[in-house]
Amino acid sequence: MAHLIDGRAIAAELRAEIARETSDLVARGITPGLAVVIVGDDPASHVYVRSKATQTVAVGMRSFKHVLPVETEQAELLALIATLNADDAVDGILVQLPLPPQIDAETVLQAIDPDKDVDGFHPINVGRVATSSGGIAPCTPYGAMLLVKSYRSDLSGLHAVVIGRSNIVGKPMIQLLLAENCSVTVVHSRSQDIEATVRSADIVVAAVGRPQMVRGAWIKQGAIVIDVGINRVAGEDGKSRLVGDVAYDEALDVAAAITPVPGGVGPMTIACLLRNTLVTAKARRG
Ligand code: NAP
Repeated sequence: MAHLIDGRAIAAELRAEIARETSDLVARGITPGLAVVIVGDDPASHVYVRSKATQTVAVGMRSFKHVLPVETEQAELLALIATLNADDAVDGILVQLPLPPQIDAETVLQAIDPDKDVDGFHPINVGRVATSSGGIAPCTPYGAMLLVKSYRSDLSGLHAVVIGRSNIVGKPMIQLLLAENCSVTVVHSRSQDIEATVRSADIVVAAVGRPQMVRGAWIKQGAIVIDVGINRVAGEDGKSRLVGDVAYDEALDVAAAITPVPGGVGPMTIACLLRNTLVTAKARRG
């Protein structure tokens, strides 16, 4: 039976550590501030933003929330970002995605000061992470990496297979695994025989968005399995429930360690957002 990597507990420990460090900064007259901008009224996005604001305040930071109407023009959003870039009380800026169709997300993300880019999506941070020259790593893959390392600290020489190549999860995950001296293979929707590739992995990171695509038979005995996927499916009782990209019950029998869904990578994302805000606050304010 695989070891369960408990993302809720590990995220709680990380938040407690961030709260301690924040309290030290506050004692020196520095209160880190995180600004979250949301455009429109997508209910799921509002739930995320509320949760981010609550957790920001809970660790002792200042939370600034900017809610803009769905018809907001790109120029208005860019003007708000320019204001937040110039605001000394703001150490981190996060623009909640997705944005309405009249706004180009890339243009907006590139307008954020890279030193306040706590999402780690700005090309400057992407480049810094890729060249191991500092930079801010995106929250979800960074959190996934902390979960891997909570189980095994030395990953050197292990073969990691990342399923999915998105800018927010798959690609940065590749860089983080390389930085830990893993040999990394990435597969995506055009890859052939994904099953055989996954079967050769010591570490599997599934970030696809396809419910239980990775079967237990795909997993090598003793592998570490990190399931980033969050998929809502109908349960047998007719109620909807969340499942990952990995067939969890099957993988439990073969993996050495595995993250559940929910309760694995999910809770790490906001904790890592707070961690990134602490890092930018310290860097900006010396
Ligand atoms: P995405 O942008 O849709 O990317 C999905 C990736 O999976 C793409 O690279 C795609 O390949 C690949 N893919 C799709 N079907 C495939 C198949 N049959 N075989 C192999 N690869 C396939 O998704 P994402 O934003 O990276 O998110 C992935 C999952 O993680 C989603 O379930 C999402 O909800 C979850 N997620 C969770 C968190 C969190 O825990 N906080 C945060 C972000 C995302 P192509 O590039 O070829 O299209």
